[in-house]
Amino acid sequence: MRFDILTLFPDMFTGPLSESIMKRAQVAGLVEVNLWNIRDFATDKHRQVDDSPFGGGAGMVLKPEPMYRAVEAVREQAGAGSQDSPIYLLSPQGQVFDQEMAKQMSNLTQMTLICGHYEGFDERIRRLATAEVSIGDFVLTGGELPAMLIIDAVTRLLPGVLDSDSPLDDSLYNGLLEYPQYTRPRVFRNMEVPEVLLSGHHEKIRQWRRRESLFRTWQRRPDLLKRMADRLTEQDRKWLAEFADAADE
Ligand code: SAM
Repeated sequence: MRFDILTLFPDMFTGPLSESIMKRAQVAGLVEVNLWNIRDFATDKHRQVDDSPFGGGAGMVLKPEPMYRAVEAVREQAGAGSQDSPIYLLSPQGQVFDQEMAKQMSNLTQMTLICGHYEGFDERIRRLATAEVSIGDFVLTGGELPAMLIIDAVTRLLPGVLDSDSPLDDSLYNGLLEYPQYTRPRVFRNMEVPEVLLSGHHEKIRQWRRRESLFRTWQRRPDLLKRMADRLTEQDRKWLAEFADAADE
């Protein structure tokens, strides 16, 4: 997977990309992250990338020319295969990023992420984008943190990045929140690990985890249950009815 990031602040990426799993994925050649400084594509002598908005108003707006040139440079370097790959504009006005989107993105071989800054983009920059992506209903100072978040969420889904099958158990991967996890010690300050997890009985453990996953989702995120209603089994529905009955008592 190749990520091309267009940003005014490439140094912001150094820490998050050079530690832990992100670092290992790059060293193993599973992921390549190319940082493009938009300022390098400004042609005037001050290398200006922003300007004040027509019509007045506060703040500065990113100019279209450097951004178009930067995208053309990415396309040229990434080669013929990249012509159809998506260009995502990070924006609080976009579709909100979620695990489903991360899964879809993990099937790509290349994507370009455009990070805005200041007051945002000249409207013509939006035409470059395949889609606008938001990371939530709040406004940040720039698109760098959103880009890092997307790179992280997508990278950990790529085959070979994590040692085990663990993304399959993660919260939200199968539409539910993850079940509770425990490790040693068996008893900590009078808090005990549920007996079933020590039983060695794989089917009972699987069932317990599924039920706990459902319970947690029912308690905390009933909206998720509605979304995955068609994927609930008969047993799932029985458990959900039990939770509702217990709550009514
Ligand atoms: N005035 C812009 C608007 O209302 O759409 C917001 C500009 S914001 C201060 C600067 C940049 O940060 C945006 O262009 C975008 O790239 C990024 N950004 C801010 N909040 C974001 C969010 N929730 N998701 C994705 N990107 C965001």
